[in-house]
Amino acid sequence: LKEYCVMKFGGSCLRGIDGIRDIVSIASSNEKCVLVVSAISGITDAILTFITGRLSERKIEDFVSSLREKHNELIEKLSPPGVHSRYTQEVNRITRKFGRLLYGVYYTGELTPRTHALLLSFGERLSARVIAAALEGAGCRSIVFDSDSLAIVTDGGYENANADLELTRKRARRKLREAVDQGLCPVVTGFFGVNREGHVTLLGRNGTDYSSAVICYAIGSRDLVIWKDVDGFMSADPTLVPEARLISELSYDEASELSYFGANVLHPKAVEPAKAGGIVIRIKNISTPGSEGTSITGSRRRTQGVVKSVSCLKDLAIIRTYVASGGYQSGTISRISGHMGRAGVNIISATTSQTCIAFLIREADLKKATASLRALIRGELDKMETEKDVALLCAVGEGLGTTRGIAAKVFTAISERGVNVGMMSAGASSAAYHFTVSMKDLETAARAVHLVFFGGEG
Ligand code: ASP
Ligand code: MG
Repeated sequence: LKEYCVMKFGGSCLRGIDGIRDIVSIASSNEKCVLVVSAISGITDAILTFITGRLSERKIEDFVSSLREKHNELIEKLSPPGVHSRYTQEVNRITRKFGRLLYGVYYTGELTPRTHALLLSFGERLSARVIAAALEGAGCRSIVFDSDSLAIVTDGGYENANADLELTRKRARRKLREAVDQGLCPVVTGFFGVNREGHVTLLGRNGTDYSSAVICYAIGSRDLVIWKDVDGFMSADPTLVPEARLISELSYDEASELSYFGANVLHPKAVEPAKAGGIVIRIKNISTPGSEGTSITGSRRRTQGVVKSVSCLKDLAIIRTYVASGGYQSGTISRISGHMGRAGVNIISATTSQTCIAFLIREADLKKATASLRALIRGELDKMETEKDVALLCAVGEGLGTTRGIAAKVFTAISERGVNVGMMSAGASSAAYHFTVSMKDLETAARAVHLVFFGGEG
């Protein structure tokens, strides 16, 4: 019996007619397949910019009709008249509701987190209709599931919610399986779910990878393909290291470390449901569907050089907080990080010493972070210092934490090129460690480390 499979198509695949035709040709040649889709490229950003800008009746009318026309035009081009009227009617219904919500925001002058989340979910509601229409146009019967009615059940957060895997499985499994078993190809909206109170919650920007892993878990499939416009995970960022090569296999931990520390291939949260369900995630390039891509599995296979990839994050900053009365007490870290957390600052990494706690954050968050800590100065903190133009390099590989000599090789290579290492952190994960260099040294450092583990030739 053929197993169920889940395929995710992100915004980068949802670009114009040709991109959608590629999706249809892949989906229609796979049996028992569920599709999870993002909004059409640029739509989520457009909605976000629109709703946070200045509204007027005129602008609302224009924006809503531009969305309606854009999606309806695609539907009309991708499906015959009999099919397309059904889907254009749905687009009209959805955009009408979207418009009414916008009027609500405009008249009340109030955009609550709940409404914000609901409005941002419309990109996926619309793209799912386009894909379903295109599938039907190619003779593949389809059904759309909006992930609030399906239901992908989440915790209460509106912007960055997490799915309740068990509850989602209970609610969604039967509906999805019944549809597939009847020979339909379900198209599920990515990016959002619904909390227990019945309100739409977002899973975080670029969250459709995560949605697709949750759906895969819910239907009980072990086969998730994430289609992208790149080949998969690389041994380094190819814009910094031209010799970077494709990695064919990663463990769950390796994939999540790389995703967290800069590889822009997979949403870090997608690994959790995959781990829980023993799901193999394959990353594949939509323009070369025959090529192998990267597989992410439960196997912790080591490679000869141990390090599988070197990822990086740019435009970071360090805040060093000096603790008053020499030596920090229990609770200090949580109080300091709590202040920053409430100000919306995400702490990427932290290291501590007797007198100082250093936090690595995004440079864009630096103002917020220092403002939030100012209140602690001359109380808990003596002073703080900040450093800009920081980049992070992260070496990832199963067994890295327990193999002798890796750090020595990395730091020798870097120091030979005259690059200074700032903060570093090892031991939190046995599959990764990371360190900072200044932005101007990033390329030199990345190439040096890559050369040690992968040699010069691609
Ligand atoms: N459309 C959403 C975003 O742009 C979700 C996604 O693309 O995965 O963030
Ligand atoms: Mg997107």
